[in-house]
Amino acid sequence: MKRERGILIVLSGPSGSGKSTVISELLKRRDDIRFSVSATTRAPRPGETDGKDYYFIGRDQFARMADQGAFLEHAEYVGNRYGTPAGPVDENLNAGYNVLLDIEVQGAAQVLKKRPDAVSVFLCPPSLAELERRLRGRGTDPEDKIKSRLDTARREYEQAKNYAYIVVNDDADTAAAELDAIITAGLCRSGERLKSIQEGVISI
Ligand code: 5GP
Repeated sequence: MKRERGILIVLSGPSGSGKSTVISELLKRRDDIRFSVSATTRAPRPGETDGKDYYFIGRDQFARMADQGAFLEHAEYVGNRYGTPAGPVDENLNAGYNVLLDIEVQGAAQVLKKRPDAVSVFLCPPSLAELERRLRGRGTDPEDKIKSRLDTARREYEQAKNYAYIVVNDDADTAAAELDAIITAGLCRSGERLKSIQEGVISI
């Protein structure tokens, strides 16, 4: 169904929860979603593309953008800054697309305060032991970064209760199917449907 304005989906989960795989599966399943490309001061990992995975920018540029209010939210995470450029989010929402934010818990809390109608989902790996195995298996981060990401993950788990939904990523296809269903449910909320009726997109 055509929509005048899309919905915002906030997805968080410890790094190593398998978010990027689940997101790419989800984007294959649905063509009504636009992924929000964040800005970060962290260095690109092998295989990451500027403008597609992230906008890789320097600390000065990040600080300037933050001062200018260019971010919907921003946060410091394991020594690097991350932020969601606000402009593209609203452009896509206004064009009728649903916008997916892959952001950590502090940023998610900021978005949910500003946009309480956003659909929030916490993705977690089956266990902390499995998370550790995945982080080490990735082979991209030094030991101190892995330790710090695990500590952060423990703290992040405590925030899971602030999300409307929790998806356990045992298997990426199943997790993507659950996320797909959650988004469909978000679009079917009476508030969203009544907006479409008022806009004349559907009539009853
Ligand atoms: P990574 O460095 O592994 O790509 O991402 C680290 C964490 O930063 C992940 O939890 C990811 O969801 C989060 N992140 C990515 N982009 C943003 C953003 O724009 N804002 C916030 N607050 N977190 C982000």
